[in-house]
Amino acid sequence: MARKHNPYENFKEVLDKAAKLLDLTENDYITIKYPERSLHVSLPIKMDNGDVRVFEGFRVQHSSSRGPCKGGIRYHPDVDEDEVKALAAWMTMKCAVVNIPYGGAKGGIQVDPRTLSKGELERLTRRFIAMILPLIGPERDIPAPDVNTTPEIMGWIMDTYSMQKGYAVPGVVTGKPIEVGGSLGRKEATGRGVMISARLLMEKLGRTLEGATVSVQGMGNVGSVAALLLHRAGAKVVAVSDISGGFYNPDGLPIEELFEHVSQRKLLNQYPNQGFTLITNDQLLEMDVDLLVPAAMENQISRSNAPHVRAKYIVEAANGPITPTADEILDKNGVIVVPDILANAGGVVVSYFEWVQNLQSFRWEEDYVNDMLEHTMVRAFNEVWDLAHEKNSSLRMGAYMSALQRVVAAKKLRGIFP
Ligand code: GLU
Repeated sequence: MARKHNPYENFKEVLDKAAKLLDLTENDYITIKYPERSLHVSLPIKMDNGDVRVFEGFRVQHSSSRGPCKGGIRYHPDVDEDEVKALAAWMTMKCAVVNIPYGGAKGGIQVDPRTLSKGELERLTRRFIAMILPLIGPERDIPAPDVNTTPEIMGWIMDTYSMQKGYAVPGVVTGKPIEVGGSLGRKEATGRGVMISARLLMEKLGRTLEGATVSVQGMGNVGSVAALLLHRAGAKVVAVSDISGGFYNPDGLPIEELFEHVSQRKLLNQYPNQGFTLITNDQLLEMDVDLLVPAAMENQISRSNAPHVRAKYIVEAANGPITPTADEILDKNGVIVVPDILANAGGVVVSYFEWVQNLQSFRWEEDYVNDMLEHTMVRAFNEVWDLAHEKNSSLRMGAYMSALQRVVAAKKLRGIFP
């Protein structure tokens, strides 16, 4: 079925706008409109009841101009090639914005993992890795977690690859459990980067997070950690939601308890309601708050609901939560958006630190990881902020321009083979 909002078309639309602001010619950046390589695989799995089911999987390498391809793997029923292509392209831009030496990639399997047993999930993961094996490796393409994939799954990926090689290769995947070469601070890194982005935005505007009201859509790894760290930084998280619905309380929600609850992989509708107002995901996006954090899926804010968004600021924890049309509406209404490729880059930044530690067989302390993340985010945020103001444009354009300059420069310096 054709998507209502094709995310890859969205990517190209935003890319063209940024290229125009930079006075680039089509020749300068046409290659960025095409992913370098894409693999579509069929994955037969023997189910626990003896049936054979075949799942579809994808790995797309968008760019290797600035270094090995890098990006997560998601398990979701809506995964298709266009989505994975867009997510891969966004990884190229994300790694360039924060200036880590990677290109971009993404993978996905079309599956609802909650319908699988643990054994089925492991067999599916191992079969997928076996099928994309020629593409991946520590110096080629390094997967990581994304929607519905966990450190445990990253451990199976590391093992499957290592078994083929005949020795342990921790650097083939990031977001692993600590015991098999994962980095301290990686699990919290995306949410931490979201909190840092929100804090930096407030600072630029002469405000602080203290007392700012916040709503968070999505209580997965990213949304729940972002909510927790925003809460600990003094913000008042008044609304949260997940696929089961959400809660609103004008005096603030018990975020520490809610974090514990969702950390046990439980849904919000299983949490004992203490008199909070029940809200839907759609209502959450339209709450009257200072800061909205969409931390779920793409295209949540589109033409239809963008005019009803009342938040002053949006920090995009998810990839692609706002369509380009909605972006224009929000911009006109004065809503300031910190774009995904900057706001949620904390995850891949600490993935980079994990990979560096793996390559050096050396372990960093958690404080050092967090300090380096902070430093990387501050530098990137300032660059984006300055570029956006210099060109009198949005932060999204600032981020795309910053990234595009780096990718285009690398492509020019390397030239076109042969
Ligand atoms: N899936 C995450 C993202 O979209 C992390 C990717 C990574 O660490 O490679 O940024």
